[in-house]
Amino acid sequence: MLKINEIYHSIQGESTKAGLPCVFIRLTYCNLRCTYCDTEYAFYEGYDKSIDEVIDEVKKYNCNLVEVTGGEPLVQNESIELMKRLCDEGFEVMLETGGSLPISEIDKRVRIILDLKCPSSGMMKKNLYENIEYLKSIDEVKFVIGTREDYEWSKEQVEKYQLDKKCTVLFSVVFGELEPVTLVNWILEDKLNVRYQLQMHKIIWEPDKKGV
Ligand code: SF4
Repeated sequence: MLKINEIYHSIQGESTKAGLPCVFIRLTYCNLRCTYCDTEYAFYEGYDKSIDEVIDEVKKYNCNLVEVTGGEPLVQNESIELMKRLCDEGFEVMLETGGSLPISEIDKRVRIILDLKCPSSGMMKKNLYENIEYLKSIDEVKFVIGTREDYEWSKEQVEKYQLDKKCTVLFSVVFGELEPVTLVNWILEDKLNVRYQLQMHKIIWEPDKKGV
């Protein structure tokens, strides 16, 4: 059984799939406590569902793109099997993970969006850097940047691990903390080979609206 916080149909707000309709499976629990977390409601609340029940619910939306998110989905080991089963059913599957738990056992068909937590998140020490060796070209590494220190740190990690050669690198702002134009200007000044992303769902709907 999986502990599910919510399953809903919306527009993918982030990543290279931004703008596409997507079914989100939000799993309960998270082992991190980022300063800017906007999904604290997923830390404990949830209901039990089997993998078969989850897949049946996802199928109702007639939507091929599915994202497994949280909380931190990898806290529940069964999430690995859920993603495999979704791939077997022909869905295009994405995973959003905070980057503190191993990704090595995840089905290679899954597009992994891996956070590297910046200093202002308060969770930088939890980054599991071993994960970098398992990144595939379809995966994406995401930095959520709230300060100039975060930006400089992110730039260092891209350089150190040659992340932009391995996969897509996403730079995004901590909503309400750093102006998008500031981050965009820094990226252009330093001629970084990264992709700036807006959290589209926070612009379409109220920033704190759930289930979108
Ligand atoms: S990893 Fe995600 S869900 Fe967990 S505390 Fe950080 S922002 Fe919130």
